Amino acid sequence: MGNQSTFFSGLRNDFPMLLKTMHGKPLIYLDSAATSQKPQVVIDAISNFYQNEYGTVHRAVYELALHSSWHYQEVRELVRSFIGAKKVEEIIFTPGTTASINLVAYSFGKAFVKPGDEIIISAMEHHSNIVPWQMLCEDRGAILKVIPMDDNGELIIEEYERLLNPRTRLVAITQIANSIGTLNPIKTIVGMAHGAGAYVLVDGAQSAPHLTIDVQDLDADFFVFSGHKMLGPTGIGILYGKAELLNQMPPYQGGGDMIESVTFEKTRYNVLPLKFEAGTPMIAEVIGLGAAIRYLQAIGLDEIHDYEQALLKHASQELQAIEGLRIYGVAPQKGSLISFTVDGVHALDIGSLLDLKGIAVRTGHHCAQPVMQRFNVSSMVRASFALYNTPEEIDYFVEVLKKTIRMLRL
Ligand code: PMP
Repeated sequence: MGNQSTFFSGLRNDFPMLLKTMHGKPLIYLDSAATSQKPQVVIDAISNFYQNEYGTVHRAVYELALHSSWHYQEVRELVRSFIGAKKVEEIIFTPGTTASINLVAYSFGKAFVKPGDEIIISAMEHHSNIVPWQMLCEDRGAILKVIPMDDNGELIIEEYERLLNPRTRLVAITQIANSIGTLNPIKTIVGMAHGAGAYVLVDGAQSAPHLTIDVQDLDADFFVFSGHKMLGPTGIGILYGKAELLNQMPPYQGGGDMIESVTFEKTRYNVLPLKFEAGTPMIAEVIGLGAAIRYLQAIGLDEIHDYEQALLKHASQELQAIEGLRIYGVAPQKGSLISFTVDGVHALDIGSLLDLKGIAVRTGHHCAQPVMQRFNVSSMVRASFALYNTPEEIDYFVEVLKKTIRMLRL
């Protein structure tokens, strides 16, 4: 990893949280798939906005409001270029991935889904990409179908092909599974759905922080992700949708900003993107997201991806060598995370003992209970890597893990 490793190891200094100790040990943060740590530039952008520039957006002619509105719009353009969208009005600010999916389930559902229609999801979805579709199906009398996966954690594409039919309205699929890391062949999945006349929502919560995204190349109809997983603040996410589709969908919420005119008899709705952004938005969070995107772009998403893949390879090799350790999700194309169990040892015990050594890993069902059921386990340990992790941290994690397993087996 050489020079690349030296460069990325240096990034740690940009992240104040990574310089902290936990239980008296240096913090080793291996839970970026849940949420990422924040670089100082993001913290500063938010704090500077509140301290020196704070004002509302869209609503006033005074300097502060104009300045805020300008910055806010600038980030929308930045997001557009970050994911390769055609038009800036196709970028809707939401509170996060979950909110984006719920918006689509409600609004697309109202406009496009009729009784007897079908929605397809996959066996490896986060609960956020399951439950809103179940709620929609219940509400509209539609049917939810699930693409199964094989023992490696890969979707069975022949089964997907069998599920597609003229009643399929939408396929909602994750690009990278948060539970087992599988990177799905989105272009193939989208092409097949379009061939059957269905639309596709891609859950990019785990991919946007780690891969170059080009929504036009993927030809996704919707693409959703969260700021907090990509070095940005909580409370801000993105819904990308093709303009011609968003234009046909009704607003999700009513209120200020989403209107063009209001009388007691009739309200005319605003155009995109404001039609879907009712109320005073998350202005500071948008500014923080802008700083996060600039930070990622300055390093380069391709470079970040290569580095994280090297970390993944290194960690996979080390973990595979541990006796009784089983990795779930061994697809050739994966995001930078590893989920595993260890024979005779409970995941929660591993997580608690690693914590005492300053190592933060996720334990539990990773908001993907059907994935746990598929692999017949109640919980897994997940170590997930980001651009600020180092090979040395992984070595330390593996060393402590081995000692922990020995201790728990005594
Ligand atoms: N989808 C995936 C694949 C995720 O990993 C997550 C977050 N763990 C979500 C959706 C939900 O994201 P949020 O909690 O930010 O709304």
